[in-house]
Amino acid sequence: MSILVVGSVAYDAVSTPTASLKQSLGGSATFFSLAASYFAPVSVVGVVGEDFRWEDLHMLEEHGIDTGGLVKRPGKTFRWVGEYGQDMNEAHTLDTQLNVFANFKPVLPAAARKPPFLFLANIDPDLQQAVLGQLQDRPRLVGGDTMNFWIQGKGDSLAKVIGAVGTLLINEGEIRLLTGEPNLVKAARQVLRQGPGMVVVKRGEYGAICFTKDDVFATPAYPLETVVDPTGAGDTFAGGFMGYLAATGDLSIASVRRAMIVGSVMASFTVEDFGPARLQSATAQEIQERYREFWKLTYFDGNGERPLPRRTSVGA
Ligand code: AMP
Repeated sequence: MSILVVGSVAYDAVSTPTASLKQSLGGSATFFSLAASYFAPVSVVGVVGEDFRWEDLHMLEEHGIDTGGLVKRPGKTFRWVGEYGQDMNEAHTLDTQLNVFANFKPVLPAAARKPPFLFLANIDPDLQQAVLGQLQDRPRLVGGDTMNFWIQGKGDSLAKVIGAVGTLLINEGEIRLLTGEPNLVKAARQVLRQGPGMVVVKRGEYGAICFTKDDVFATPAYPLETVVDPTGAGDTFAGGFMGYLAATGDLSIASVRRAMIVGSVMASFTVEDFGPARLQSATAQEIQERYREFWKLTYFDGNGERPLPRRTSVGA
């Protein structure tokens, strides 16, 4: 089944403790659609400026991504400037220039109004709502993401979006900010009460946790010695996660657990280089191998009822 994604397509300037890049292709919709494209057909809705490079558009199209809904407008492409300190789990935003996104109103082409899977990637919640308002059928799954910029700037609009999505994927710091609740389990339960049936909390190098009413599943991140640039890892996770669910059409708990691993596999490629450089060159074989390595990493016993050795005098 296919996925429609609305989100940012950007040029990022990123600095880390060891290197920096002044202009790297970025944006939530970019990372999401590249990751999802390995599994399912993806169409992207967004806007770029006149400075958007032909090579970047071509690269997305070479991944089979439908860019018909990615319009070009006079002005400059959205720009995000961020930096990481020694803790590579948290990006510090130095500047956000909305540019062409400031006046953008997404219009879904008639053929795109009944997407089976929809992802509202990190972007102005007013735009996320505008997309929801144009749907003709309820998708099988609507996923959504956001970030501190919108939590602080457009909280009311964001609350409506959260009430309408089936799955919220959000990072650890942002769910704490959104709910005012420092404990992640309580924070996730609070979001579940607001509408979504599933909340996925992304935790950078510590992995991700998925909460539903009846299930909790945690995955580690792939243990990498070198993390070059974590920008886009969360969006990539979401793309792998939704891509897997769309490809299988299976929304059971077992399938969601596998989707969590696929999201982690895809994110592990993104962080290995600046922007989407490593993600875009990943091969189907590399993805399959990393999935197997994750299986080895997380497997510990086929029997959860195994009686543990116990000292009779303690804990009786
Ligand atoms: P992630 O590291 O997965 O949270 O996503 C990083 C990407 O989000 C970068 O490529 C940025 O271009 C994009 N981004 C940063 N700030 C915003 C924002 N306020 N709205 C939409 N996208 C943003």
